[in-house]
Amino acid sequence: MDTISQRLQHILADISILQEAAQRSPQSVLLLAVSKTKPASDIAIAYQAGQRHFGENYCQEALKKQQQLGAFDITWHFIGPIQSNKTKAIAAHFQWVHSVDSVKIAKRLSDQRPVYLPPLNICLQVNISDEKTKSGIALTDLPTLCVAIETLPRLRLRGVMAIPSPQDDFELQRQPYQQLYQAVAKLNNPNLDTFSLGMSGDLKAAIFEGATIVRIGTALFGSRS
Ligand SMILES: *Cc1c(COP(=O)(O)O)cnc(C)c1O
Repeated sequence: MDTISQRLQHILADISILQEAAQRSPQSVLLLAVSKTKPASDIAIAYQAGQRHFGENYCQEALKKQQQLGAFDITWHFIGPIQSNKTKAIAAHFQWVHSVDSVKIAKRLSDQRPVYLPPLNICLQVNISDEKTKSGIALTDLPTLCVAIETLPRLRLRGVMAIPSPQDDFELQRQPYQQLYQAVAKLNNPNLDTFSLGMSGDLKAAIFEGATIVRIGTALFGSRS
């Protein structure tokens, strides 16, 4: 079995090959290592191998690991569903939040972002194909929400995040990402430079359709129990 650092090198090589195949510029796709449910020691191994961006879904679990890894220069991304009573901790302990799906949550994050920190980087989570989950805004609400969130002083709206329903077929994987990309392009807003798309199962489709951040858990840290 491969080690975490071997798998990291494989994933980075894959990203680089796909980037080139998709005629994207070098270094235009950032790997976000999704470490939910995995111990701080796994994060430390990936860090020693050069990984700097880590994504977490559960606030309490993330804070505990952040404490254990205090000396590491990690950029932390929150990617899970956000409850109102967690916004204060999230605003103080993360540099990015990918899963904002209401103005109410965005306002709380802006109000609670500590003054000594730079504005919090935000992606709006868009529900592009998965009818089963209620997370994410409708694509049609994207323009209005962007306008509302861009007025919040302690946030920096960077783009969109999406988790489409899983598909095995490459063409079917591409479709929702294409739709999302076109909807964002229509907004013609140069501040929106981030597409957080793609997980272990649809890396190629995501990179071909413009992902700038891919969120990889299983392929790096192994399956979650
Ligand atoms: C768990 C998770 C991932 C990683 O998924 P894998 O299939 O393990 O690569 C990516 N994004 C979000 C929002 C997640 O919750």
